[in-house]
Parts: sequence; structure tokens; C-alpha cells
Amino acid sequence: MSKYDEIAHYQDYNELLSILNKSNNNYDLRKIQKAYNLAEQAHGDQRRVSGIPFILHPTSVACIVAQFGMDSDSIIAALLHDVVEDTDYDLNFVRKEFGKDVANIVDGVTKISKIKLYSREEQQAENVRKMLIAMSNDIRVIIVKLADRLHNMRTIECMKEQKRRDKSRECMEVYAPIAHRLGMKAVKDELEDLSLRYLDPVGYKEIEDALLLKENERERFIEKRKKEILKASKMPKDKITVYGRVKSINSIYRKTFLKGKTLDEIYDFFALRIIVDDIKECYNLLGVIHDLYTPIPRRFKDYISTPKPNMYQSLHTTVIDREGIPFEVQIRTWEMHRTAENGIAAHWKYKLGFTRIVNNKKARELDANINRIKDVLAAQIDTDDSTDIIRNIRNDFDQNEVYVFSPKGDVFNLPNGSTVIDLAYLIHTEVGNHMVGAKVNQRIVSIDYKLQTGEICEILTQKDSHPRRDWLEICKTSSARSKIRQWFKREKRDENIVEGKMMLERELKRSNISLTDEELEDLLQFMLKKNKFNTVEDLYASIGYGGIQLWKVLPRIKEEYHTKFGEQENTPVINQYVHKPKRSNSGVIVEGMEDCLIKFSQCCNPLPGDDIIGYITRGFGVSIHKRSCTNIPKDISKAEEPERYVNVRWEKDINDSFHSTLEIICSDRTGVLADVTIALSSMRIFINNLNSRPIGNGRAMVTATIDVFNREHLETVIKRLQSLREVISIKRF
Ligand code: MN
Repeated sequence: MSKYDEIAHYQDYNELLSILNKSNNNYDLRKIQKAYNLAEQAHGDQRRVSGIPFILHPTSVACIVAQFGMDSDSIIAALLHDVVEDTDYDLNFVRKEFGKDVANIVDGVTKISKIKLYSREEQQAENVRKMLIAMSNDIRVIIVKLADRLHNMRTIECMKEQKRRDKSRECMEVYAPIAHRLGMKAVKDELEDLSLRYLDPVGYKEIEDALLLKENERERFIEKRKKEILKASKMPKDKITVYGRVKSINSIYRKTFLKGKTLDEIYDFFALRIIVDDIKECYNLLGVIHDLYTPIPRRFKDYISTPKPNMYQSLHTTVIDREGIPFEVQIRTWEMHRTAENGIAAHWKYKLGFTRIVNNKKARELDANINRIKDVLAAQIDTDDSTDIIRNIRNDFDQNEVYVFSPKGDVFNLPNGSTVIDLAYLIHTEVGNHMVGAKVNQRIVSIDYKLQTGEICEILTQKDSHPRRDWLEICKTSSARSKIRQWFKREKRDENIVEGKMMLERELKRSNISLTDEELEDLLQFMLKKNKFNTVEDLYASIGYGGIQLWKVLPRIKEEYHTKFGEQENTPVINQYVHKPKRSNSGVIVEGMEDCLIKFSQCCNPLPGDDIIGYITRGFGVSIHKRSCTNIPKDISKAEEPERYVNVRWEKDINDSFHSTLEIICSDRTGVLADVTIALSSMRIFINNLNSRPIGNGRAMVTATIDVFNREHLETVIKRLQSLREVISIKRF
């Protein structure tokens, strides 16, 4: 028990001061003292569960943070991290006294502490990790939180069994992986070992004992190898450090208990670490090692030239000595060593520290160090994105995702812009189908409320409630949309049939196609087989709930109509078509002609409000063009047959809609078509045709033929489309 004896892990203010004094960093000692005084006063007589004065906890956390090499603000935040939560002082006070950075870190740590991290499944744990990082707008929040958690784990012995286990799981699944991600190996190893100790006390003890048993053997072995290496390296003793590396208990546990190996089978059970001053010496020593012992093939890894994503650098090799015992050797520089142990915290130190020391050799050395590390970081950004730690962290701050909680503490991960509808369907289809509303952070919100990371959202349901069709336009995720459609498909078949048939008839009528029920059924036969429908009713139902989108299939239906009925000019159907144009449908009055067939030209799609002109065709009535259409001569009097051109004007009250084609230039990315569709359908604009093609330079041309009432209406639509982020320009065709 001695290793984790609770009292041994409390450090007082004097110890903090001595850590700070030993460091080369430039600390604001006056401000740190002030923070300590406040914390001491605020926590007053508070005690830890073990009876130890509470103030020793934040002081110890501050010591850990200082040992990471963090700056004054981090240390101050560590001292104050429980003040806002547990005492009478609030965040505003902290901000006023210590500045906004300290306040922000304290706030972040407090917020994270409030979250109950129920990590039941791996997926869940990953979400929690991402969310914690997303919630920490300043990376120092995570570092202080890790120190806080580390200290709590070191002193958890006096907690109740269940609490120890819960905290240990949280550590294993959430905090240790975050420490790993940030390259903080020392913290990761300790958190894992401490957790394992409570999660599997027996297994832990078994390995601990086995290690103890092998301790002497190990020490003798290491001493021998160390001597051999020092001798062979021919380096002065102060230029090279060789020592035996003890693997973490958790890593041995994983290899023995989880992978079924025995202690003797673990290659790097005997492990050496060699630390030197520069990179050239690392490679020299690798040569020395490979000369002295036999390297095991494929066990050599050069993490110096190719660092791990968390910045880790070292040479790894496994060799066999003359007695046939394999052991692993890690070779690195001191700088790499610091990075390997403290990860991002080590770099934080380089970025912020050392500003006070001037005018001596050490300062110049340090300056050179800072610059070199900056160079290395910069070079990595240029050459290999995946090795850039900052970028990796940014990825975790993914702006495209939000993380929200259920009141029970489950974390859900949704695309940015998701609404409470999306969350409801993500939780469970039945939750979505019975949702009546939602509460976010205890307040009722509207159904189109867009969720933000960190919010607690409760979906309110009612047994007899069901989805509404307009949800289809509000929700963000396709999975929610398809579940809503599924519901309509299943629950509302009769309504869907009626709705679908009406929708189809309405659209056919717009194209002046009117058919009897039997003719329509006959016409649609070709679609049944293709979509595996048994009856036309199935097809109507599908159109009704949106499984088949009308705008996608309508052109094909019209085509079928024309092959079936269109060519035979003398069939009654086409006669009906020719002789029954309703004037009210056309909306255009032709001067000097009554009851004539009106046809709107496809080339310019005139709209009410446009300046128009008529052209008398041979046998197809008067076709209406925009006056500015390229097919209409500028000067009619000079046209070939000027007598064919007639004056036309729009009727006063037109209630019909008209085709209009837009050419939309936008950035070429997936989903752009969907965005345009959604924008149009949210305005209840019918889409006759929609397609897109890349036009180079990362752009795409979307061509949309839509139905609008008039020019004004079209202009509203254009304005709305222009507000889409990806839309660059829109031209009416
Ligand atoms: Mn704490």
C-alpha cells in the first residue's frame, strides 16, 4: 500500500514554492500567493473525506500542474479550481481579481466536474472524450482537470468501494485516453495503474508481486547491459544516461491477462532507456546496440523521423543478448524525453516560459531550444499534417459536431445544426415518433431549436403524439428524415394514397395532362416493376409519404405519357389536350384573338411580370416568349415573317404557377444539391428538374427548373438561395 499511501500525496504551499523556485520559468509569485490566500480563506475549515484539510487538495493539484511546467495562470487556476464550486466566491470575483484566462480555466474545470460521465460503452466513452476536449476552449482546462483527477485518484483509498470503481472506470475510459492523446505519458500510465488497482485488485496485485519477485533479476540484468553499452558507446559518462525502464502495470496487465501471454513472453519486460543530448547520437547509439546484440527483425521503429501524432519521438528496437534474453531499447534526446513524459504540457512550457532569463549562456541555449522546437513543429505542419499535435487537437474541437447530454448523462454526438428532432430520433425511433417537444437546460424550446455542445436536452414525449410532415424540412440528419418518412409510410397508408395521387394529378395537370383514373393507372404500370410495387396504390402511397420524390420521377412519367399518347395526333386524348386549353390556365391574353391555344416557350420560360411577345406557330397555337428571348429578333419588322408576331399581355389575376429555370453556380461539394432542394422545399417550391455538374475551379453549376407564380415570387426564391453559403451566383436562364 505504501506507494499510494494517501497522506504521502498531499503537498503544501511550501512544497509548491520549492517546485516553482527550482524551475526556470518566469512565475508571477505575487499573484500565485494571492490565489493561495484566497483559496485557503475560501475553503476555511473544509475537509476531505479522509479528514485532511481541503486546501491541501488544490495546493497539491497546483504542484502537479507546476511539475508539468505550466504557466502562472494554470497554477493559479489549479489553486482556485474548487473555489467557485464549493465556496461563496463566484466566477466574476475570480475574473476581477485574476483576469479572464484564470476565470475561463476555472470555469471550464468546474463545468467538466459537473458532468456525470456514464461511460457504459466504448462509443459512449469516445463521445465523452471528444466532448470534454470540445468544451475546453483553452487546452489548459484539460491539463488542470487531468491534474485534479490525478490527485483525486492518488487519494481515493478512503472513498467507498462503489465510488472508487466508478471513478476508476471514468479514468480508464475517458481521462487516460485524453492524456494519451495529449502525449502526457506519465499521467496516462499513472491514471491507468491507479484505475486498474481498483478495477481488478487481484490482477493488479499479481503483477505487482511478480514484478517484485523479478526485481533483483531485473536489476542485475540492467546493470550488466548498462555497463556493456556505456563501454561500447565510448561516450563520457555525463553525456549519456542509461537506465532500466519499468513498464506500467496496466501495460503488462493488458499483455498478460488480455492477450494471454506470460511475463516471460513479453519482449519489453526487460527494457532500457538511453537518453543523450542530440539526434545524431541517438542514431550512433542505435548502431552500437545493433552491433552489441542481435536485433529482432521488424521490431525497429524510427519515431524520430516519423513522430507519433501526439508528438512522441524515440528510436525503438528489440534485441537479444548473448544469453538469448530479448529486451527493448528506447533511445531519445532529453527534449524528446520531456515531450514523451509531459506531451503538450512540455510544449506549453517552451512557448510561454523562459522570458525572464537574459544575458547568460543558459538563456541562449534555451532560446535555441525554443526556436528548434518551433521549427520542428512548423516543419511538421508543412510535411506531414498528421503529426501536428495542434491540428490533432483541432480535430477534436471539430466544429462540425455537437455533443449533448440526456438528463441521465448519456452523451449524443450529432452533426452541427441538428435540432431536437434529430436528437429524439437518435435516442430512439419511438422517442422521435412520440415527441411533443423538448427542454434544453430545463427550459422548453421550440421544435426547430438547434443544439449546442454541452447542453442537457430532455425530449418530451406523449403516448398518442406523432410526427408532423413539416419535421421533414426542419430536421438536419437524413436518418431522422427517413425515420419520419417510415412512420408516415406505415401509419398513414390511406392518407398517403390519397395525398400521393393528388400530388401526381396536380403536377400532370400543370403540364396540361389530364387522364382518367384508368388511363393514369395504365400509364404508371412501367413504374411498378421498377420499384417493386404490386399496385398503383403502393406507388401513390410512396409518393404520399415522400419515399418517391415526385420531382425526380415526373420527367420520366411525362416522357412515358408522350410515347403512349403523345405521337398519335388524332387520338381523343390529344384532341382533348388541343381543344381544351382553359384560358384561365394560360394567363395570357392575345390581342385580336380569342380562345387560341397558348404555349409557353421552353427557351425562356416567361413569368407574369416579364415583358412578353407571342409567336403564331404552325398548328400549335401561340407560343409565348420573353421579349428579350434570344429566339426573338430585336427588330420584329426585320424578321422573316413579321406577321407571325403578335402582341400579348398577362391577365390581371393569375393563380397558376410557371416553369422557370435557374442556373446556380456554387462551390462543388457533396450535399450542395440537397441544400438547394431543402431550401426550395422549405419555401414550398415545386422542383421539376434539378441537376448539377462540375464546372472546374471547385465549382458546380446547378440547373433547377422550378414552378413560381410570377417574377416577384422568383426574385424572393433567388434571394433565399443566394443566402446559402455555397451559392456563388444565380442566373435566370
Ligand atoms: Mn478538485
